[in-house]
Amino acid sequence: MSWIRRFLPSSVAFRLTLALSGAIAFSLIVLFISFYLFLKAGLESRTNKWMVDKAKEFSELVQSGGPGVMRPEFEREASAIGPRTIMFRLIASDGRVIASSDDSEFGSVGVDAVMVKRAEAGKNVFERVPVRGRNYHAMDFYARLEPGLTLQVVRYLGNEEDLLEDLRQSFWASLLVVLLASSLMGWLLARRTIERVENVTRTAMAISSGSFESRVPVTGRGDEIDRLASTFNRMLERIQVMMTEMRQVNDNIAHDLKSPLTRIRGAAEMALTGRDGAAEYETMAAGTVEECDRLLEMINTMLDISEAEAGMAGLDLRRLDLHDLARDACDLFQPAADERRLTLRCSGEGTATVMGDTARLQRVVANLLDNAVKYAFPNGEIVVAVFEEDGRAVLTVSDRGPGIPPAEIDRIFDRFYRCDQSRSRPGNGLGLSLARAIARAHGGDLTARSRVGEGSVFTLILPATREVKGAGG
Ligand code: ADP
Repeated sequence: MSWIRRFLPSSVAFRLTLALSGAIAFSLIVLFISFYLFLKAGLESRTNKWMVDKAKEFSELVQSGGPGVMRPEFEREASAIGPRTIMFRLIASDGRVIASSDDSEFGSVGVDAVMVKRAEAGKNVFERVPVRGRNYHAMDFYARLEPGLTLQVVRYLGNEEDLLEDLRQSFWASLLVVLLASSLMGWLLARRTIERVENVTRTAMAISSGSFESRVPVTGRGDEIDRLASTFNRMLERIQVMMTEMRQVNDNIAHDLKSPLTRIRGAAEMALTGRDGAAEYETMAAGTVEECDRLLEMINTMLDISEAEAGMAGLDLRRLDLHDLARDACDLFQPAADERRLTLRCSGEGTATVMGDTARLQRVVANLLDNAVKYAFPNGEIVVAVFEEDGRAVLTVSDRGPGIPPAEIDRIFDRFYRCDQSRSRPGNGLGLSLARAIARAHGGDLTARSRVGEGSVFTLILPATREVKGAGG
């Protein structure tokens, strides 16, 4: 079979058309052959039955009137049926013809001694025989009328044979027409369907040559190919968003690396060209260490974000209480809050136990408090609240500060994103991305609400764990 495949065009449309036409042709041929055989057998049995009935009639006649009455009876019967259609013979046991109707048409069909013998044994014998000089067959029939007397009937089969021949011819002609029409329709249908699959291929090729905006047309019929196209388009959408994000992150990394490196280089240049000697080198070294620390912190935070985004695997999960986490964080940030004359209040109610990685969740709360202390208006209040709601443990950090403009509220969780108003403050724009990645790795989330000029509320939500008596952290 593989050699056949090698010669067939590799187009799916061609193969589908071929399979469809093949299936139609096969079904039609099987159907026709069954119908043809059924019809042929029906016609034959009708003729044969008629001859057997005639033999019974003649048998009664012979018994009542003797062989002498048969010749006129044969003539009458033959002419009633039609000229050159049938011939009757009355045959003695030795094969001699005692009486016969007109044999001008079927004279070439002789008396078959074997058949006469079998008929005399009481059997009805049929045989399809050729008629010399004619291109049709005749049915040669023998039956015993009474001991020593056999009837031979030779019946013209041309009508039936012509009918079957016409049927065969018209079948092949119709089959040809049906096959041509079905191939054409099958080809058009297959082409239309395959054309839509090819659209997907073309789009994939356009994308591989760099055109990421290309999309596969969706017809709106909602069929399998539409679903393929929509899925493909959705995938492209995601890839495009990811590519844009990656480009942005790359730009931001480049930008954030450039400033400290420029500063390090500037300091080194000054040390080289300056005249103060050792003092200048000392300042340069101190500055370089400071800048390197900042760079290392940034790189480490990026690695932490990637690790958290990879999911739960790296987490050291233990049962812990968010109240404790909040209290510890408040204690830690109290001096920084005091420095900016901010009131730091920790409030809590109910239980808020979660399965979490203490060190990482501490980092989340520390990031939120660090931002609150950094951005809040002086003399304001920062509230850290912990409670349980709908089976979830919630920790919120609210401040009274400049707030975040609505257009930027979703972007503050992007890597390196910093609102315009915050650029004068220290920071690298990675804190909230890391905090959200950690929250999501725990099966929770981190969201923000804010009113410009009034303040912001950051909400950490984690799946709560039921308190188990005696279970330790
Ligand atoms: P960073 O604080 O280092 O800039 P973050 O990822 O922690 O980076 O925060 C991203 C940005 O979100 C900040 O630059 C700031 O503009 C904004 N932001 C975060 N927290 C607050 C807050 N409490 N009030 C106002 N703006 C905030």
